Amino acid sequence: MENISIAIDGPASSGKSTVAKILASDFNFIYVDTGAMYRAVTFLAIKHNVAFSDEQALAELTKSYPITFKPAAYGQSVFADGEEITQAIRQPDVTAAVSEVSAHGKVREELVKAQRQLAQTGGIVMDGRDIGTTVLPQAEVKIFLVASVEERAQRRYKENQEKGINMDFEAIKEAIAKRDYLDSHREVSPLVQAADAVLVDTTGMSIEQVVTKIKAIIDSKGF
Ligand code: C5P
Repeated sequence: MENISIAIDGPASSGKSTVAKILASDFNFIYVDTGAMYRAVTFLAIKHNVAFSDEQALAELTKSYPITFKPAAYGQSVFADGEEITQAIRQPDVTAAVSEVSAHGKVREELVKAQRQLAQTGGIVMDGRDIGTTVLPQAEVKIFLVASVEERAQRRYKENQEKGINMDFEAIKEAIAKRDYLDSHREVSPLVQAADAVLVDTTGMSIEQVVTKIKAIIDSKGF
């Protein structure tokens, strides 16, 4: 496989990170979970008592505490401010606030810079909301992954159960719909399908089927 960049965008819990991890491992590419970076800034805001509305202070926080990833047995571990935050950034308090934090242009500016640096070498699979439109507009392959909100909530509910996070199904569904709304209606880099992205609706598909489909799309582009 050539050293291409693969951008995978889509709404919350559409399976982006699961398939991105598999593709990165199969192609021996670097995987970058940009959602984890916005979650890390949200975690730091809670830890340092910074208001989610304070754009300048959040941007300073982002500059002061670089976010780093280390490969782990399953996916990646996330670190910032001298501690591992892999689990902490998935907790409901972070999830509930991340869309407010990620809407600030100055926060995005800092993180987009870091994301482009990580992608410099090519051979990358990056997932998020604005990868195909803003972070890597030159990416050779762009996928926009969607699924019904019902199915996404079911997947997240199951995942949460496995991780020991307790949240009822209806609350998860509501939280996902709210996050989608905020992410697609913000002014800076809203969640939107890039004109040259391929839409993949994963409703009713298994992970293996989605991976096979994306590999076929990559193939069809001649890579
Ligand atoms: O992908 P994940 O659901 O973990 O992302 C968490 C949040 O981070 C999203 O709901 C969105 O507000 C923000 N995000 C973003 N741009 C990205 C990736 C994530 O605004 N590229």
